[in-house]
Amino acid sequence: MIQTKESIYSTVEDLRDLIIQVNDYIHDNPELGHQEFKAVELLTSTLADHGFQVEKEVAGLPTAFTATYQNKQGGPVIGLLCEYDALEGLGHGCGHNLQASSITGAAIALRNNLGELPARIIVYGTPAEETTSGKVPMAEAGLFDCLDVALMMHGGDRTTVDGKSLAINSVEFVFEGKASHAAVAPEQGISALDAVLLTFNGIEYLREHVRSDVKIHGIITDGGTAPNIVPERAEAKFLIRAADRAYLDTVVERVYNVARGAALAVGAKLTIHEGKALDNKLNVQRLNDLLLENARLAGAREITPPRQSTGSTDFSTVTHRVPGACLRVSFVPFGVSNHTRDWVEAGKSEDGHAAIIAAAKAIAATSYDLITKPDVLKEIQKEFLVAKGSRLP
Ligand SMILES: [Zn+2]
Ligand SMILES: [Zn+2]
Repeated sequence: MIQTKESIYSTVEDLRDLIIQVNDYIHDNPELGHQEFKAVELLTSTLADHGFQVEKEVAGLPTAFTATYQNKQGGPVIGLLCEYDALEGLGHGCGHNLQASSITGAAIALRNNLGELPARIIVYGTPAEETTSGKVPMAEAGLFDCLDVALMMHGGDRTTVDGKSLAINSVEFVFEGKASHAAVAPEQGISALDAVLLTFNGIEYLREHVRSDVKIHGIITDGGTAPNIVPERAEAKFLIRAADRAYLDTVVERVYNVARGAALAVGAKLTIHEGKALDNKLNVQRLNDLLLENARLAGAREITPPRQSTGSTDFSTVTHRVPGACLRVSFVPFGVSNHTRDWVEAGKSEDGHAAIIAAAKAIAATSYDLITKPDVLKEIQKEFLVAKGSRLP
């Protein structure tokens, strides 16, 4: 086993130039969600060159793909997920170029070291993580249901595994009032902006009476057109998060009631536009431990326990269907947050390159463990079923 891991590591070293080329190309050609055509072309052609069967535009998404390699018949099915979308105005501030390159490298290195072992590797190209989410429609299309385990990678300020993530709902409130001259005839107007301000104030009061894991953050996206006109239209967007879906649903309803109350108070009409909703991540500790141990063996730096403070991710949707884990690999100094220029710059630095090589080794070696240790895979699946609240077969 150790010998095979050494062999996986040396295959990754052989692929070093290719992995770095893929990384730097995607870094230098940032594309927004659902427009990642250059990245998809490069990733799918690279995987096809190494014997993977590519299917593009899966789940009806123009820049989603799968690339499958079946080694012998049967065996575990390992899903390796990558993202490649960039941020508007910033480029690769979330380091998704690192995922695309390291996952591709891991998949090829694993494929080249399977020997006679039956196994299937499926690389998933999952677009638009930063915006509308590719994984949710891909999950709804059943694309992950064939997997025994799903793994993914993300850059970070430390090497760790995601212990949890928050469930999230996004919502837009549109209030419609009545325009009037703000000085001459204010009594004839209905201020939609007042309803927005009351909503913000009501949410501040609500904040005191929800669980401490709840996070509610909003912005005003339309506050009227001119100060001498009573605003006839106003709009605000909110993100509402909590540690679990069931509790979040109750908080979301209370936030809606605050907005409904605000509309009633000023006499405005309210329209609620519900946006993206993601569940919290289901945690499988055994899988997390295996992944982190392989990161250590692969030489990843700054290994720490899972972060306490977390956001939300569309990977959580996958973790409700199959056991899943995401490896964070350090490539920026500790404490440097994502969605920053620092992350963009580090994306093709020496540290960035070291991170993708370590990640490729760790992900390939973890997959190899899952394929060759049926007892470990069974433990992981058992823990997953318990986490899901399902009854064991
Ligand atoms: Zn991001
Ligand atoms: Zn990200």
